[in-house]
Amino acid sequence: ADKILEVRNLKKYFNTPKGLLHAVDGVTFSIERGKTLGVVGESGCGKSTTGRVVLRLLEATDGEIIFEGKNIRDYGKAEMVKLREEMQIIFQDPYASLNPRMTISEIIAEPLIIHKKCKNKEELQEKVAKLMETVGLSERLTNTYPHELDGGRRQRIGIARALALNPKFIVCDEPVSALDVSIQAQVLNLMKDLQEEFGLTYMFITHDLSVVKHFSDDIAVMYLGELVEKAPAKELFKNPVHPYTKALLSAIPIPSIKHKMSRERLKGEITSPVNPGVGCRFRKRCSMAIPECGNSTPVLREISPGHFYACHLIGKEEKKIEE
Ligand code: SF4
Ligand code: MG
Repeated sequence: ADKILEVRNLKKYFNTPKGLLHAVDGVTFSIERGKTLGVVGESGCGKSTTGRVVLRLLEATDGEIIFEGKNIRDYGKAEMVKLREEMQIIFQDPYASLNPRMTISEIIAEPLIIHKKCKNKEELQEKVAKLMETVGLSERLTNTYPHELDGGRRQRIGIARALALNPKFIVCDEPVSALDVSIQAQVLNLMKDLQEEFGLTYMFITHDLSVVKHFSDDIAVMYLGELVEKAPAKELFKNPVHPYTKALLSAIPIPSIKHKMSRERLKGEITSPVNPGVGCRFRKRCSMAIPECGNSTPVLREISPGHFYACHLIGKEEKKIEE
């Protein structure tokens, strides 16, 4: 398979007054060109930090980031300028990420100006008009300001801006989480169309599994800085194996049976990501925990092709079945 991105043992630690915060702690995954990896987990699990470290908006503490076969952690300033064109980000809150004093067309033009992509004003205007059309923004909005638009249109501006430099890879950090459900579907459909049209690869970060269900090719589940399960999307929904993934899945409301369904709620204290120590980080909330869970950290293993998990229990069950 043609892997556009390979991340190996990626770590990002932050010094805090309380100690070393293990925001991302040895994460390994890859993404195939033109596909979408959904990265799912609760807030504070390190998914946004992973996205920013992959883009080198934050410097990694350790690990490798291989983009198109090259370790981009070695890149100097000049190489990073070029890389910025190939890797982009779409933020959660388009309003917060847009300059309120700039018009829509100025916002979309900015990356083209910074990266000197246009020879003259006419070319710039033409490119901006084309980008607006591509994301479904009417031409008459050219001279309006972000606050005059609704959330869906504002996110379209964010997408147009991200597309301006013809990127290959886009980190989408909760791009629809701030939007109404009806608008979410429109924006997701647009993103899907753009992926096909431009061959984009997405790393799609969300706390909401139902958003990535139909959108992702693969899904990675993170818990407190670690990747605990990764599988093709369908497989993850059909055969989740990690207790945390199961809990996340059971928390998705299914409208028709909402009231009958007994939800496995996540209870218990959350392990601190500051100096987390040894053992499974989910153990204090895990209803399946065994003594071993506190004594050693489970490593990622493959249970079926492309389906990885990190949990002590599963290997145990398998062994029992074999015996
Ligand atoms: Fe639960 Fe233990 Fe598996 Fe962690 S390793 S998820 S505590 S069973
Ligand atoms: Mg976040």
